[in-house]
Amino acid sequence: MGARSLGIILSSLEGFENPKPELEQWATPGEIAEKMVSLADLRDKKVLDLGAGTGILSIAASLSGARSVVAVEIDPASAKILERNVRKLGLENIETAESDVAGYSGQADAVLMNPPFGAQDAARHADRIFLETAFRCAPEVFSLHLSKTRSFISRFSGARGFEDAVLGTFRFPLKASFGFHRKERKIEEVDYHRLWRRK
Ligand code: SAH
Repeated sequence: MGARSLGIILSSLEGFENPKPELEQWATPGEIAEKMVSLADLRDKKVLDLGAGTGILSIAASLSGARSVVAVEIDPASAKILERNVRKLGLENIETAESDVAGYSGQADAVLMNPPFGAQDAARHADRIFLETAFRCAPEVFSLHLSKTRSFISRFSGARGFEDAVLGTFRFPLKASFGFHRKERKIEEVDYHRLWRRK
């Protein structure tokens, strides 16, 4: 599938209905999701999407050739939207796991995720829990993190046996999806990391 048609499909998915700030529910914009999968080689891989939300990254992975995808999401309301999005597109290789990523340990070839950035008080350190789980589950991880945490991510990963490369930097509309922030649309610089287990 061409990048443009993939971007269009991803941009037309149903988004969060009542985003929960404490779970840092901000969806990845379609064009960023499209770039993420174009920079990752997911063909024929078993992919894990941690904190899958409404499913945009799972769907992007499936449409770009992943063998199968497991979408792990703690929030039942989001998981329902995810399943609707998947059903509408008729994708049969995406499975939902309604679960907390902490303690999750399903194995995969690669993790593709946009985790909570740990920016909200209630979600402080959520980024670390997501990375720990990703490192437990797969030898290769594609993940978004605030650019201002770049050196922390690199050290944190290195200490756990993972090499780090930044594949790109995106301007990410962080609070656009929250009703009470709708007007003050905050843009954050976000790095797209590839982390892989050291041989
Ligand atoms: N991956 C989606 C959603 C990103 S928002 C996208 O790219 O659009 C982060 C998601 O992580 C939210 O859906 C939130 O509900 C989920 N989440 C937060 N903490 C979680 C946890 N401990 N376990 C599983 N999912 C969690």
